[in-house]
Amino acid sequence: MLNLFDCLVCALVVSMLTACAGEPTEDCTNKVGADAPCACDDGYVGVGTRCVDGDEVDIDECAGVSCGDGGNCTHAIGESTPGNYTCVCASGYEGGGLTTPCRMAEDDVICPITDVVEDPVVVRRFQDNDLEHEVTEGRYRVIVPLDYASIADDLLAILPQCETYIETFLGYCRPWSKSIVHLGVYGSTKSKVENGVVYLGRLANVFSNWIHRDYWGQVTRICGETTLAHETVHTFQTPHAPAWLKEGQAQYLADVVLGERIYQCNETDMEICSDTACTTYPYWDLSDNNWEGGNKHLYYKTGACFWKILTDAYDTNKLRDVTRSLAAAPLEEVGVFPFSPETNALIINHHFVPYLDVNVWQKIARFGISDN
Ligand SMILES: [Zn+2]
Repeated sequence: MLNLFDCLVCALVVSMLTACAGEPTEDCTNKVGADAPCACDDGYVGVGTRCVDGDEVDIDECAGVSCGDGGNCTHAIGESTPGNYTCVCASGYEGGGLTTPCRMAEDDVICPITDVVEDPVVVRRFQDNDLEHEVTEGRYRVIVPLDYASIADDLLAILPQCETYIETFLGYCRPWSKSIVHLGVYGSTKSKVENGVVYLGRLANVFSNWIHRDYWGQVTRICGETTLAHETVHTFQTPHAPAWLKEGQAQYLADVVLGERIYQCNETDMEICSDTACTTYPYWDLSDNNWEGGNKHLYYKTGACFWKILTDAYDTNKLRDVTRSLAAAPLEEVGVFPFSPETNALIINHHFVPYLDVNVWQKIARFGISDN
């Protein structure tokens, strides 16, 4: 499997020498961008700028993949099919096997008490008037503009795995009988969840990037990067929770757990690193009612730090108990607004303190949430 780092290095070297030498083991038709290296044929893996027989090299297929909770990743030396790894599940977990993450045994999975069984309805969200292409497999359905039809198959291939990660992370099942993702060409980024349908609107040039199959190589990474995970998390959440909590959880999962972005959440600020650069941001006060507009991203990032601080401080199983509490015992009177200090205190006392401990107040004080 070519990982992103290899690709960057390859692209650099290849562009200095000659793009795609056309060795018998290389597929020159399957390139991302003019300077990108060739993709390797089945059975071969990219090492530097060459495609090498997969039987002769030890590639750590477990790097950057997740086998879910209760799962351990193993990979064999010189597998005949590069990119394959195996998930071995602890007791109490099921699933696993070839490239399939583990998940809690069915008995341990709960559905939200508001268990919604109605079918999600697709609404026209993009003013593109494009003809559309649609694929369905089981309960998963993907709709894309006809010009980018191949994206539908690629997305459909990763969607079940993406949802399994999220389901395992949250500890309860989706409240929707079907899972629908609707992609459309849109003038600026537009991501939204409405009645269980995930809408992703992007500029045409973004679709042109997505149409290259290589882009979809790393399931977890792509699930995080395209905001697919962020929006999908929303389809699992109860409406009866404040936005800082929901947006923070969606952002944490998409950015940190799946997107592999580094969040260094400090006492008064956060340093966030992507592949190429690190930036330091101030925290946003999560009790602030007026967070829309240009600083919206700070609100989301701060919310992600809220969840990261707690994940780092407590057992992930306890955090999952919190998430289940949010779903199974929602405080309906809380609504979405206002995020007054009283509302936030109610939420923390009801959903967090019983599963974590009273010290949780100290840990989240930096986000403007307090118990008085
Ligand atoms: Zn969101």
